[in-house]
Amino acid sequence: MSANKIPYKMYLSEEEMPKTWLNLKAFMPEDHAPFLNPATGRPCTADELERVFCRECVEQELNCTDREIEIPEGIRSFYANFRPSPLVRAYFLEKALDTPAEIYYKFEGNNTSGSHKLNSAVAQAYYAKRQGLKSVTTETGAGQWGTALAMACAFYGLDLQVFMVKTSYEQKPYRREVMRTYGASVTPSPSSTTRAGRDILARFPGTGGSLGCAIAEAVERALDTPDCRYVLGSVLDHVLLHQTVIGLESKTVLDKYGVRPDVVIGCVGGGSNFGGLIAPYMAEKLQGKNNIDFVGVEPASCPSMSRGRYAYDFCDSAKITPLAKMYTLGCGFMPSPDHAGGLRYHGMSPVVSKLYHDGYMRVEAVKQTQVFAAAERFAKCEGILPAPESAHAVKVAVDEAIKCRESGERKVILFGLTGTGYFDLAAYKSYNDGTMKDYVPDEADLARGFASLPAID
Ligand SMILES: *Cc1c(COP(=O)(O)O)cnc(C)c1O
Repeated sequence: MSANKIPYKMYLSEEEMPKTWLNLKAFMPEDHAPFLNPATGRPCTADELERVFCRECVEQELNCTDREIEIPEGIRSFYANFRPSPLVRAYFLEKALDTPAEIYYKFEGNNTSGSHKLNSAVAQAYYAKRQGLKSVTTETGAGQWGTALAMACAFYGLDLQVFMVKTSYEQKPYRREVMRTYGASVTPSPSSTTRAGRDILARFPGTGGSLGCAIAEAVERALDTPDCRYVLGSVLDHVLLHQTVIGLESKTVLDKYGVRPDVVIGCVGGGSNFGGLIAPYMAEKLQGKNNIDFVGVEPASCPSMSRGRYAYDFCDSAKITPLAKMYTLGCGFMPSPDHAGGLRYHGMSPVVSKLYHDGYMRVEAVKQTQVFAAAERFAKCEGILPAPESAHAVKVAVDEAIKCRESGERKVILFGLTGTGYFDLAAYKSYNDGTMKDYVPDEADLARGFASLPAID
C-alpha cells in the first residue's frame, strides 16, 4: 500500500532513465545450462556463435558475472525517442472491478512498431552497425519483431532482409508495408531464394510456412552473405537483457512514489518481456530482499512451461540452431491453427525456465476466449486496445484483483502491457463474432511434440 497520491501516469525524467541494463544471470545462484552445439554435443563457443550472431550480443549472451551492463549512448539516444514508456495506475479498471487492490501497468505499445520488441531491436541494430556489418536478417511471424527491427535498421543505416511466414505475409499485408516503408526487404517464407526454402517447397508444395522454416532461411542467408548476421527477437539471454529497461524504468518510478508490488505479472512467449519486467525485482528476491509473487502467463493452447519438459531442445523446428536447456513442448509441437492469441513459441527463455524450475516464480495457463474477454473489459475502461499477447497478462491481473475483492486484501499488482492490437483485428473479429474456439492440446498432441526432442539431457 502506498501513501502518496499516485497520478494516472508516472514518468521518468531523462536524467532518471536507466544507463545500464540489469544482468539477472549474475544474481542467480546457479547458471542455466549452456547452449550446446548439436554437431558436437559440446557447449557452443563464442567463435561458433559469432558466425551467426553479432559479436557484442554473443558476449552478452555468455556473460554470467557482470550485474550491470552499460547501455551505450548511441542506444540511449534512440531510447529517449520513445522512452520512458508510461507506467499507468489503472484507476478506471480498479473502479470497474470494485477491488481494494492497486493495479499498475507498464505500457510498451506507444511506438510505431506497437510493442516492447523495439527495445532489443535498437540494441541489436546498433551493435551490428558498430561491428561494421552491412546487413542483418531475421524471421517474423505475426510481424511485430520484423517491424521493430525495420525501424531500428532504418535509424542506424543497415540493410534488413525479413523472412515472413507466408500465411502472415498474405494475411497481414499492412504489416509488410510498414516494414517496406522503413526500407526492409520482405520475403514470404518458404521462398525459392534459399536451400532450406527450396527443400520445404519441394516436400510440401503450397505450404503456408512456419516460424521454424523462416528461421532456417534467415540463418542460411546470414551465413551466405558477407558482413551479415542473423538477429532474434526473444528467447536468448541478450534479448532479455535489453528488455530489462522495462523493469528498471518501472521500479525507479514506483520507488519514487513508494509503491512496492506484491504481484508482478507478464505474458510469456519466448520470455524476454517477462524476464525484462521482473528483472530488478527478481534480483532482489534472489538476494532474499522481497517475496514477490511472480506470475508468467501462457496460452493453454501452447503451455510450454505448465505442461512442457525441462530439456535440451532446438530453438527452431528446422533443427539448425544451437540446443538450449529450457521448458519446451518439443520443437516439432504444432499449435492449433485456431490459436489467435500469439505466444505460440514451443520453448521458453533459458533464464525464465531456470527461475521457474528453481521455484522463484509460477505460471498460469489461460484460454483464449477468457483472454479476449479480459482484453475487451480493459479496452473499455483504460482506453487501450491490447495486443492479444498482452491480454494474457491483463486476464491474470484482473483475476488477482477480483480475488482481492473477495478477500479484502489490498495487494499491489504490477503487470506488463506489451503492445497494441491494431494488426490483430482478425482475432478480435472471431471473438466478437462468437466463433473463437478454446483449444487445449491433449496428451497425444503433447506426446507428438515431445517425440521431436533431441536425445540429450
Ligand atoms: C512478441 C510479443 C510478445 C511475446 O514476447 P516475449 O518477450 O517473446 O515473451 C508479447 N506481446 C507482444 C505485443 C509481442 O509483440
